Amino acid sequence: MAKPSVVVPEVFPYPPPRGAGIAAAVVRRKCGLQVELGAGAAGLLGGACWGVESMRASSPTHAKAVDEERAAWMVRHPSALGKFEQIVAASEGKRIVMFLDYDGTLSPIVDDPDAAFMSETMRMAVRSVAKHFPTAIVSGRCRDKVFEFVKLAELYYAGSHGMDIKGPAKASSRHAKAKAKGVVFQPASEFLPMIEEVHERLVETTRCIPGAKVENNKFCVSVHFRCVDEKMWGELSESVKGVLREYPKLRLTQGRMVLEVRPAIKWDKGKALEFLLESLGFADYSNVLPVYIGDDRTDEDAFKVLRRRDQGQGQGVGILVSKHPKETTASYSLQEPAEVMEFLLRLVEWKRLSRARLRLQ
Ligand SMILES: [Mg+2]
Repeated sequence: MAKPSVVVPEVFPYPPPRGAGIAAAVVRRKCGLQVELGAGAAGLLGGACWGVESMRASSPTHAKAVDEERAAWMVRHPSALGKFEQIVAASEGKRIVMFLDYDGTLSPIVDDPDAAFMSETMRMAVRSVAKHFPTAIVSGRCRDKVFEFVKLAELYYAGSHGMDIKGPAKASSRHAKAKAKGVVFQPASEFLPMIEEVHERLVETTRCIPGAKVENNKFCVSVHFRCVDEKMWGELSESVKGVLREYPKLRLTQGRMVLEVRPAIKWDKGKALEFLLESLGFADYSNVLPVYIGDDRTDEDAFKVLRRRDQGQGQGVGILVSKHPKETTASYSLQEPAEVMEFLLRLVEWKRLSRARLRLQ
């Protein structure tokens, strides 16, 4: 029988707690990423590498960086608004393709994940961007739910961390090639019954923890702890790990105020980005400038793909949404969804003016 493929959860703090650089490096060395263990759930859930400290580091409740620390971080990850001209200059002769995370990027992080609505003005900004550039929403949420929030049929949607991809429903979407319009890609469909079962188990097991909310995102399950008292985080993580011990083909990752259970396959937001570019006919790196905006640990997989593509040649732009310094592979930063909207509107205006200039020539 084939040995179950077990992947060690992402264990290092994100962002690292202040002054914890050395400790984080040690943890990274001890645990590594994507390590094939073959040791079953015991290895997957190795308590020393993962737990409430890691949850705390991923979900800072009072992350006030000193001014110098922030200034140094901003030098490494300057504002995408401040460097707007530099970003659009890199797109010369290339097609910009937009990738947008949802929670914390287009909508604010709120206590109730079911109430993470985007504003009408943000919706209009995204609609305007999609008129000029192929645009995809890449989210940890299930595709149907993120579509209910965004409500724009002309976009591409990659739900469940890219494990559920669909092209635009709107036939008139001007960017979609025939192949991309009909695209539906679900690399983890065999896991659906297992995810369903784990969702029910997690609802049951976390019932006694006030504020815990379990969300079925079709190809993954999210356990939100943004409303759980910090004193209960340890108990919550133990409950989740207890359930996961029985499912060695699933892995546990963590995001901002959320624990996530997903299939242990090598598929993430970065792979989804590459898949969508290829579907759009941009497998050739030289004629496209992907721009990815996201705020979470899971968006780092996409930032890494862009960094790899880029190699200093302007072939991809990663923008992290964060008010506080965080360890990131993104090149630029924006502070909050309001700045994301400003960036999107500037992009639309820049494109409109470029077209007008071309018409005059
Ligand atoms: Mg997010």
